Amino acid sequence: MMVSARKVLISAVVALGLSFPACLTAADKHGPHWAYEGEHGPEHWGHVSKEFQACSEGKTQSPIDLSNAAPEALPKIEFRYDSSRLNIVNNGHTVQVNYDGGSSIAVDGSEYKLVQFHFHTPSEHTVDGKSYGNEMHLVHKNDKGQLAVVGVLVEEGDENKAYSTIWSNLPAKAGEERSVEASINAGELIPSESGYFTYAGSLTTPPCSESVKWIVLKSPVQMSAAQIKEIRDIMNKNNRPVQPLNERVLKVSQ
Ligand SMILES: [Zn+2]
Repeated sequence: MMVSARKVLISAVVALGLSFPACLTAADKHGPHWAYEGEHGPEHWGHVSKEFQACSEGKTQSPIDLSNAAPEALPKIEFRYDSSRLNIVNNGHTVQVNYDGGSSIAVDGSEYKLVQFHFHTPSEHTVDGKSYGNEMHLVHKNDKGQLAVVGVLVEEGDENKAYSTIWSNLPAKAGEERSVEASINAGELIPSESGYFTYAGSLTTPPCSESVKWIVLKSPVQMSAAQIKEIRDIMNKNNRPVQPLNERVLKVSQ
């Protein structure tokens, strides 16, 4: 009885989502509408669309709380980052920098090309339950189409001048895109210490696809409160809550 009532409700939600295209923002033209709060918020993503089923059914979802990690001698990540022109877009969910070709990471004998990086406020991963002011995700793809995402936690502290070029070109409105005659280098945005947490996870946004290799750097970088506020004012809160670890093993560099 309760099950069928719930099914009816889910169908109704799906039907409403499809019959009210006015709820789609400019940036959502290519897929069902989802958000970080309200009736299309994270706890409902799995029911918004069949394509998003992994968000509720998946057993290896991201982000997670990084705690009780097993220390191990993990392979070193080689960052082969070159500079890129600044191509930056506000897609309605995050501010994303699309990176020029030619940069990659090498880890465990596999090369993954840097495609883009983007930001979440506050952080998506937590460390022993502690949340950070922001988190940057550097998204890489290998030639088999597999993803490796490097997470960089941002703690409040000194102003971080390495981010100045990006911060002075943040697109404030959803759908706004800028191509700037300026050079950036992702290598300057990450911490110099290379220790990391790693686990098998997912995209943290719909469709929550799994088989993502997660590498979250142990050392945070700093940004001033004003810098963190500046991007938060544009994106508002855009972090998915932490997901259960289930049967997975979380490893950390010794
Ligand atoms: Zn992300």
